[in-house]
Amino acid sequence: MNIILLGPPGAGKGTQSARLVERHGMRQLSTGDMLRAAVKAQTPVGIKAKAVMDRGELVSDEIVSELIDAELAAMPASTGAIFDGYPRTAAQAEMLDMLLAKHGRKLDRVIELAVDEDALVDRITGRFTCARCGAGYHDRYKQPKAAGVCDECGSTEFKRRPDDNEETVRTRMQEYRAKTAPILPGYEARGIVAQVDGMASIDDVAEAIDDLLA
Ligand code: ADP
Ligand code: ADP
Ligand code: ZN
Repeated sequence: MNIILLGPPGAGKGTQSARLVERHGMRQLSTGDMLRAAVKAQTPVGIKAKAVMDRGELVSDEIVSELIDAELAAMPASTGAIFDGYPRTAAQAEMLDMLLAKHGRKLDRVIELAVDEDALVDRITGRFTCARCGAGYHDRYKQPKAAGVCDECGSTEFKRRPDDNEETVRTRMQEYRAKTAPILPGYEARGIVAQVDGMASIDDVAEAIDDLLA
């Protein structure tokens, strides 16, 4: 199975990807995570991408597609891929078709997480992650079970993304509307899009996605 999770910033793509990885042994390919790792390691790609990401704009199609290509090349053919945050433009959607063909894969499903825009700022400004293992949390919607301790690894250190502030979120939402949403009709024409109500609880969204993949 190769699937795309599509939705605006804060829709729940990362949260649901983590569940799919756990339950179905799929691999999450998040260009956002790859770019943040490059920024942290101060690679040439990271140095170039940092300012763009801080503004909430999109990094170049070539850079992100090369990251995806390298990940697919390093994966066993039998492991399913979850594309999280990629593709984000029409050019990336075309490149993904090419890359999938190159690596002997095909796109099975595009799962659109439909969310109410008003909820997104709230979701993003309350988002934090475990500094050690990357597990995702929220100030109100997903607190660790024991206050201040990561459920997954026991770490007591957490972090917030520099681009998870209201102003940058507005730019990211505009980028989504202008450049990412327009790729949906092409996938709809292929009959592979399924919409899931992303405003439901995390567990209910996970169940709806499971039903689609069953
Ligand atoms: P994305 O990867 O699409 O940007 P995330 O999965 O990181 O989104 O979710 C954004 C924030 O909202 C996180 O803090 C997460 O814990 C929280 N969240 C995710 N899904 C839901 C949901 N269905 N209901 C409430 N909060 C959610
Ligand atoms: P979100 O919470 O919006 O889903 P991501 O972690 O997917 O955030 O992306 C964070 C930032 O990284 C984006 O605002 C953008 O600058 C950059 N980025 C991630 N994926 C892509 C992509 N496929 N194309 C261009 N830029 C990307
Ligand atoms: Zn952890």
